[in-house]
Amino acid sequence: MQAGQELLRVMVVDDDRLQRMLARAALESLGHRVIECVDGHEALQKFSAQRPDVVLLDVEMPEHDGYWVAQQLRAAEPGGWTPILFLSGLAGDEEFSRGIEAGGDDFLSKPVTTRLLGAKLRAMQRLLAMRRKLEERSEELRQANAQLEQLSTHDALTGLPNRRALDAHLHQEIAACRREGQALSVALLDIDHFKRFNDRLGHLAGDECLRRVGQVLAEACLRPRDMAGRYGGEEFALILPLTPLSGAMTYARGLLRTLAQREIQHPDSPVGPFVTLSGGLTTCVPDDSTTAEGLLLRADDALYQAKAKGRNRFFSYEMKLDSREQRNSGWAELGG
Ligand code: GH3
Ligand code: MG
Ligand code: MG
Ligand code: MG
Repeated sequence: MQAGQELLRVMVVDDDRLQRMLARAALESLGHRVIECVDGHEALQKFSAQRPDVVLLDVEMPEHDGYWVAQQLRAAEPGGWTPILFLSGLAGDEEFSRGIEAGGDDFLSKPVTTRLLGAKLRAMQRLLAMRRKLEERSEELRQANAQLEQLSTHDALTGLPNRRALDAHLHQEIAACRREGQALSVALLDIDHFKRFNDRLGHLAGDECLRRVGQVLAEACLRPRDMAGRYGGEEFALILPLTPLSGAMTYARGLLRTLAQREIQHPDSPVGPFVTLSGGLTTCVPDDSTTAEGLLLRADDALYQAKAKGRNRFFSYEMKLDSREQRNSGWAELGG
């Protein structure tokens, strides 16, 4: 075998024992390995089981001819390409053309010399190597694209969806909930006294705190359409489709409780010994006039109220409109 040439596993399909022996002798003298098949059925079975690199295919065989076998082999590896060389006693343009139509890559007339066979295999090998390289490149490209997609939609620090992804999801859910006539809840959350946290413990500890809070939020998203993301700085957003006010309040209460249980030390918070957050919540059944900007503005206003009322709590303007729900839920005492 010449330098740079790889050993090939060549499947020889021929009903004639002598032809198979000749082919084997030639291939082995070229340094290749042989898989013998006596008919189309054996060829199909061994093709799938042993994945040869190249197929040498006789045309004239009793049950199914080589053209039929070639078509079956092609169908057996959609998206794949194993070179098929016809090796036939028949010769002529008509036969050659049929062979190529059936999925073959070349057509040799018997008897074929070892030298010619070796040269044809070498050519196929080049094509195979090129194809393999192409497949590697497209896999690399696919991975790079996935990475790029992840980078453009996720926040590097917390791994949560970023503002861009949140905005896209919000637009999508406004439309979906409008179609479905379902309630959509949106919340903006902000860590309390985070500047003091940074000032006392440093920026790196601050980053770690953001990561831990982000984790609590990510874990709170149980439904497939819920999304928690980092809106920016120490602000997060929650998008909760199919969630009426009462459900969103239950959710918010659970979130504050989970965060409290994590007991992330805050060395300088007037609220208490641990990191807390405040949230502004808004809920509606979207209609034609509902916009993402409008919902976020309303949530931000509500967040301001939650801060003003002492932090470590959620606030919602809609809640005021539903005092019965408020009373029943104990919302007024929520948090702090
Ligand atoms: P409030 O309770 O009113 O929200 O007070 P606060 O101190 O949390 O709010 P303020 O807006 O005054 O400060 C926010 C701080 O968040 C200031 C900023 O340095 C910090 N911060 C924003 N992004 C990051 C970040 O990525 N990492 C760290 N470590 N700190 C951040
Ligand atoms: Mg034959
Ligand atoms: Mg803030
Ligand atoms: Mg803050």
